[in-house]
Amino acid sequence: MISVEAALEIILSEIKPLGMERVNILSAMGRVLGEDIVADTNNPPWDNSAMDGYAVRAVDTKDASKDQPVTLQIIEDLPAGYVAKKSVKRGQTIRIMTGAPMPNGADAVIMVEETERQEARGKRQEVKVFKEAKVGDNVRKAGEDFKKGDIVLRKGMTIRPAEIGMLAAVGKPNVYLYQRPRIAVLSTGDELIEIEETPMNGKIRNSNSYAIAAQIKACGATPIQLGIARDTKKDLKEKLEFGLTADCIVSSGGVSVGDFDFVKDVLKQMGSEMRFWKVAMKPGKPLAFGIIGDKPAFGLPGNPISSMVAFEQFARPAILKMMGRADIFKRPIPALLTRPIKKKPDRMHFVRAVIEEEKGQFYVTPLEGQGSGILSSMVKANCLIILPENVKDMEKGSTVKVHTLDQSLLYQDKPGY
Ligand code: AMP
Ligand code: MG
Repeated sequence: MISVEAALEIILSEIKPLGMERVNILSAMGRVLGEDIVADTNNPPWDNSAMDGYAVRAVDTKDASKDQPVTLQIIEDLPAGYVAKKSVKRGQTIRIMTGAPMPNGADAVIMVEETERQEARGKRQEVKVFKEAKVGDNVRKAGEDFKKGDIVLRKGMTIRPAEIGMLAAVGKPNVYLYQRPRIAVLSTGDELIEIEETPMNGKIRNSNSYAIAAQIKACGATPIQLGIARDTKKDLKEKLEFGLTADCIVSSGGVSVGDFDFVKDVLKQMGSEMRFWKVAMKPGKPLAFGIIGDKPAFGLPGNPISSMVAFEQFARPAILKMMGRADIFKRPIPALLTRPIKKKPDRMHFVRAVIEEEKGQFYVTPLEGQGSGILSSMVKANCLIILPENVKDMEKGSTVKVHTLDQSLLYQDKPGY
């Protein structure tokens, strides 16, 4: 048997990031940037008003107060998106809207709430100012966000809405991203039927293809369904060869020591360096991995939970690495066990469980039904407890490491202020 860590190290040493492609930024979410992004202009491009109000010369408002307002002459109305035609001279002001460029002569903005516009007297418009302005008040300086030539985003960053906003702000409708891996998914077994069918005569529905495809999507990669291969070397080989049009193959089933478990043999025939291991983990013991041509191939075990857990441990980090990501591992969360767990110091255990937070402390409760075919407990679980190989029985109250399976820790049914 080989340890989970050792298998992972061998696998990742064989995985390289894919190439780049140019992508519209609206399709960039969750993907990895393949180039440094340099600002082509200052942002904001010019000094502008942070408020609706009056652009003034700060000196003209000296000592202004509620009791002793200063009266200024309004010489222009300036909406956002236009440049003032006039300059502000002594005793003058320009009515200004948020985002409008600062007029020449003005060095501060008084909020409209600190002023009172006067009845027009003939052509003359006036405003009373109730507050003294300091130079720079309510002015957003050109380049205060970023300056022309600044590197605003770095190669290797994962793109979130903020990064997409930044790309738009620097005028980049298209950017180089690491390619989105296309992952071929194959299920193997004479017992498998399509999910539209009703199980009869020893058959079961092919649930793995769907669960694995969803895991692939959750990584941000694209699954390609190869369907079901029967337990013959011929059928397996045909389907797997078709899978080589993708960037990577993930199969499930047929890697154990049963009489019809041919996946490892066929992969070996096809690949120069195929490895087959019994990995010291539970669930998910048998695992085949290798490079066929230049494509990585994973032969996961067939039991539904074994395949999902093995995918999480091995295929997921590999796919994230192919996508150009550096942060490819789940972050473990420490939590207190609410119940004891029985364990022999033999393999690494991945225990389906529910993690909850209370008053700043995480608590984790293992679920009933840890069999490798029990999908219903996987549905209830929001995390896996990780018990390292050498660990024995764990008592209630001990601290364990947990990998979350979904975003349930990030969301709740009420606002969390
Ligand atoms: P195997 O690794 O091929 O011996 O399969 C182990 C167990 O997983 C068997 O009980 C299979 O019926 C089950 N199994 C294999 N492939 C799938 C699949 N695609 N969907 C659901 N169960 C499967
Ligand atoms: Mg099988």
